[in-house]
Amino acid sequence: ASDAKFFVGGNWKANGTVSMVDQLCKDLTAGAKQFDPKNVDVVVAPTAVHLQQVKGALGAPYEVSAQDVWIKGPGAYTGEVPAEILKDMGITWTLTGHSERRAYCGETNEVVGQKTARALEADLNVIPCIGETLDQRNSGQLFEVLTAQVQALVDNIQDWSRIVVAYEPVWAIGTGVVATPEQAQEVHAFLRKLFTEKLGPQTASTLRIIYGGSVSDSNCKDLATQPDIDGFLVGGASLKSGAFLTIVGSH
Ligand code: PEP
Repeated sequence: ASDAKFFVGGNWKANGTVSMVDQLCKDLTAGAKQFDPKNVDVVVAPTAVHLQQVKGALGAPYEVSAQDVWIKGPGAYTGEVPAEILKDMGITWTLTGHSERRAYCGETNEVVGQKTARALEADLNVIPCIGETLDQRNSGQLFEVLTAQVQALVDNIQDWSRIVVAYEPVWAIGTGVVATPEQAQEVHAFLRKLFTEKLGPQTASTLRIIYGGSVSDSNCKDLATQPDIDGFLVGGASLKSGAFLTIVGSH
């Protein structure tokens, strides 16, 4: 990890029942003494309908995140959740551009950039997600794809102090195939350099770049020691409090 404060997010995706969420929040609350919030920020992202339950059940040091946010403000947009409504509920973070939203909901780089800007305007912190597919990696487009994803963020974001960038190779998400520490570090170093060119060394050196994709309690340690990995975005393993807390404590 760099000098930036370690950051671990748990993405619960489209999972959970009222009783499961209740139990997970109890277990996380009991486990909060296992880490020092001075050294790590911990954020969990339940489904939109579980946000209020989780917000009520999980206090500091945990923070609560949405998994997505509407591209516009409140109004006649049936079914959507704008950033202002999240903010009003005490939700302080949102993901944007998760690969599952890019793949299943057709979200483009431009949409992800605009959603991120909208969320910042409404005073949320944002975790924009980027990453290449296996085909893109295998055909030599890795850096080109990432550069285009980053450019759409750079075009839309002014205040980088409320951004945590998640690098999540699509081939590693939910597959059990984690990037090796060397593969992840190679990309994180590339991203740090790219952000340095685009935003300057000051912003780039404090920007947290976290890794996501099949992170588990057994592989987190080797990834966390890489110089440009500042934390994790955890999917599957974030539904198990024991594994998640081990990952939180891995820095
Ligand atoms: C994710 O959903 O962001 C993720 C990284 O999932 P998993 O940890 O299950 O691969």
